[in-house]
Amino acid sequence: YPCDVIRNFSIIAHIDHGKSTLADRLLEFTGTIDKKEKGNQQVLDKLKVERERGITVKAQTASMIYPYKGTKYLFNLIDTPGHVDFAWEVSRSLAACQGALLLVDATQGVQAQSISVFHIAKERGLTIIPVLNKIDMPAADPERVAAQIQSTFGIDPNDVLQISAKTGKGVDKVLEAILTRISPPKANEDDPLKAFLFDSSYDRYRGVISLLSIQGGVLRKGDKIASCHTRKKYEVTELGIMYPEEVPTTSLRPGQVGYIACNMKESSEAHIGDTLHRVGSAVEPMPGFKPAKAMVYAGVYPVDSNDFVKLEESIKRLTLTDRSVEVMRESSTALGQGCRLGFLGTLHMDVFRQRLEDEYNANVIITAPTVPFKVVYKDNKTVIISNPVDFPDTVDSSGRVKEVQEPVVSATIIVPEEYLGEMMDLCYTHRAEEMDHRYLDTSGTSARVILTCILPLSEVVTNFFDKLKSRSSGFASFDYEDAGYRPSKLSKMIFLLNGKPVDALALIIHRSAEQEVGRAWVKKLHKVIPRQLFEVPIQAAVGKRIIARETLSAMRADVTAGLYGGHYERKLKHLVNQKESKKRMKKFGNVDLPQEAFYDILSTK
Ligand code: GDP
Ligand code: MG
Repeated sequence: YPCDVIRNFSIIAHIDHGKSTLADRLLEFTGTIDKKEKGNQQVLDKLKVERERGITVKAQTASMIYPYKGTKYLFNLIDTPGHVDFAWEVSRSLAACQGALLLVDATQGVQAQSISVFHIAKERGLTIIPVLNKIDMPAADPERVAAQIQSTFGIDPNDVLQISAKTGKGVDKVLEAILTRISPPKANEDDPLKAFLFDSSYDRYRGVISLLSIQGGVLRKGDKIASCHTRKKYEVTELGIMYPEEVPTTSLRPGQVGYIACNMKESSEAHIGDTLHRVGSAVEPMPGFKPAKAMVYAGVYPVDSNDFVKLEESIKRLTLTDRSVEVMRESSTALGQGCRLGFLGTLHMDVFRQRLEDEYNANVIITAPTVPFKVVYKDNKTVIISNPVDFPDTVDSSGRVKEVQEPVVSATIIVPEEYLGEMMDLCYTHRAEEMDHRYLDTSGTSARVILTCILPLSEVVTNFFDKLKSRSSGFASFDYEDAGYRPSKLSKMIFLLNGKPVDALALIIHRSAEQEVGRAWVKKLHKVIPRQLFEVPIQAAVGKRIIARETLSAMRADVTAGLYGGHYERKLKHLVNQKESKKRMKKFGNVDLPQEAFYDILSTK
C-alpha cells in the first residue's frame, strides 16, 4: 500500500450519537466483518463494562479495504472513547489521523462534547467531515441541526452528510467522503524508520502489544528498534494490522497503522506518544503527549484484609490494560493495607471498580473520592495532596500553611432554554464562578443555550452529573476541561468514634459545606455502626471544632435480647452474624468495628 491509497481517520462525537454503530457499519460495508456473524453486539466495544454501559473505554483501531474506481484503498479507523473522563485518549488517538468524522445526532443536535472533540480535532489540524446521524428517526431535524453546526463550527451546511448508521442509509457517501476529502498521510519509505506509539495493551503470552502509526520508513518482522524516550532496544517479533482483529503482515509501510509485538515485558515501557526508530539511525522524536493526569483519587481496600495480596495483584494486572490509572500503596489504621489509585474522572473510577469486580472477583471498599489539592507553605513550598489524611489539620494564619488551592475546571453545559434557571442554580450551589451564557440557536420552538462557568473539580466529581441530568430531565449535556488551581477555603474534616479519629473517613471539604456534610456523615455512621456494650459518641470535627455529634446508645450483652419473641431463625442468624464479624472486627480505642461497616458507610450516598 503506497501512501496515497491510505486514509487514517477517527470518528468523534458526543456520547450516544452513534460512533460505535457507524464504526460497525463501515466495517460491514467494506466486508471487514460479516453482517450475520456479529449478532447485535458492537464489534469495537470489547470489554463487558463497555457493553453494559454502552460507552467505549479503550480506543480500538481497525483497518478496512475500500475498493473505489478500480483501486483498493486502505482505511484505518481509530475509534475514540466518548466520555469527558477520557479526553486524553481522544487526543492521543487523533495524532495518528489526518481527518475525523464529526458525528452529530440529528435528533439531539450539537452537544457539549461535540464542541470539545471538535476543538481537539481542529487543534491537531485534521480535516473534519460533518455527519448528521439518525436521520431515520421521526424526531430528526437535519436542517435545524445543520444550521447549528454552521453557527457553532462555521461549517457550510452543503458539506454536511446525512446518514442513518442504523439502517446504513448514506454510509456509502461517508466512505466516499473519507476518500475524497481527507488527505493521505505524508510519509516516505526511503526515510529512516519513524513510528509513533499511540496506544498499547498487554497480552499474557506476547507481552506488550503496541499500536503504531508509521511516519516514515518500513517496519518488518525481526527489525531491531529503539525507543526515543527510554533508549531501550527491542526486536519486532510480530506485526500486522487490525482487520478488525490482529492479522499478521510481512511489513508495516509508511502511513500505515498497525500493531507490533516486540520483546517488551512491562507495559510501563510503552510510553504513549513515544517515537520508535531503527537501532543505529536516530530520528527527531514526534512531539509527545501530555501524560494522563489523575483528577480523582480514592483508596481501594479488600473487604477481607487477608485478601490484600490478591487485590494488589489484580490491580496490577488491570492497570496493564489501562495505563491511565495511577497506583500507589497506602495503609490505613482502619482498613489495613490498600492502594491509592488515581483516575481520570469518576466514570473512569467506576469502570475500573467494575472491571476489578467482574474480571478478578474482587470485593473492595473504595474510600470517598478526592481531587488533588495543593497546599502552599509560607516558604512557598507546594505539595499536592491526594489523600485527605495528609492534609494539614488546621489552615489558618498561625500555622506554616500560606494557602490551600483546589483544582478547577472550565465547564460547558448545553441545555434547552427553559432549563437555564435550573442549571444556573445548580452551578451556583456548586460554587460556580464567572458564569456566562449565550444562545446556540434562536430559531425553532425551544432555543438552546450554552452555559459556561468555572467549577471546582471537587464539586464535579461527586454527583454533579446525576443532578444535572435529573434537573434538566436528561436534556443537559456537560463537558469540562482543566482550568488550573484557585485558592479556596478548605478544611479537613475528621470523624471520631469515642474520641478516636478514624483515618479512612477523613474528608477535605469547603467551609460552606462543613455543617451539611458533617451532619449527614455522622447520621450515616450512627446508622451503620453496630451498637457496643457502652455508649459511643460519634463526632465530626474540623480542627478542634466539633461540627456534629450523634450518640450511639449502649447495647445489652445478649445480642438477641432486642429481638422480640418467636423469631428463632432470626435470632440464630444474628448469633451467626456476630460470630462471623468477630473475625474482622477492628478496634478503635475500645470500639469494635467490622470491616463491612466501612463498606456500608462508603458505598451508600
Ligand atoms: P456511541 O456512544 O457514539 O458509540 O453510540 P452508539 O453507536 O453506541 O449508539 C447509541 C445508540 O443510538 C444505540 O442504541 C444505537 O443503536 C443508536 N443508534 C445509532 N445510530 C443510529 C441511527 O442511525 N438511527 C437510530 N434510530 N439509532 C441509532
Ligand atoms: Mg460507543
